[in-house]
Amino acid sequence: MSTAKSYDTDELYDNCSSEPKEVTCFCGKTAFTIFNGRVRQVRECACIDCYQHLTWAHNLGGPEFPPILPISYWDNDVRMDRGEDNLMVVMLRESGRSRRLVAKCCHSTLMVDHINYKQLKFLLFENACKIPWDNETDPPSVTRPPSDRIFMKDWDDSRGKLPEFKGDPSRIEQGCCPPFTNKTNRQSIDNPLGETCQSIFQRIPWYTLENDEGVIPKNKGDWPELIPIEPR
Ligand SMILES: [Zn+2]
Ligand SMILES: [Zn+2]
Repeated sequence: MSTAKSYDTDELYDNCSSEPKEVTCFCGKTAFTIFNGRVRQVRECACIDCYQHLTWAHNLGGPEFPPILPISYWDNDVRMDRGEDNLMVVMLRESGRSRRLVAKCCHSTLMVDHINYKQLKFLLFENACKIPWDNETDPPSVTRPPSDRIFMKDWDDSRGKLPEFKGDPSRIEQGCCPPFTNKTNRQSIDNPLGETCQSIFQRIPWYTLENDEGVIPKNKGDWPELIPIEPR
């Protein structure tokens, strides 16, 4: 039976549970709750910055990740549950715009903030932390499927075999990003129950890697050391 869902609207996530979700790092020492468990949008991102960051974290013992990354956006209304002492904000370069929250205990990556998210949402890598499923039987690829695949201009075959895109092939982009209906995807958070990722980020130490753009060091030992910077 065909139950074709539009790939450019929020109905794509009708099977995503809106119950709060507790996200944890892989070792379990660090956890936070997203009050609205219904995802805002999911994409697959091939950009070099996501790939560079997760490769760095993996070299330090962080999680394995697939060649192209499922990324999901969630309402910026959260509660830190445990392990705040483990957290640090890591930037690839001080000139960059993404701020990535990393758990020092196991180098999982938790929230990612970017100026374009307008403090309304944050990003999670589906494979770099543990996000609960929406029900007991269907994996996230079913309940929160990607609406598009972006930044294919950065794709490189050295990452492995590119999996087939299961969504609408017209929504595969070289850059960023095909339109997604904003009418149904909330433009404000009316009754927040917790705090924002920005307020958490202000309490914890910040670092920059100053790794050259697009460069993946050949050897683990060739990655630069983290340099402390002021929160911003
Ligand atoms: Zn951990
Ligand atoms: Zn990316």
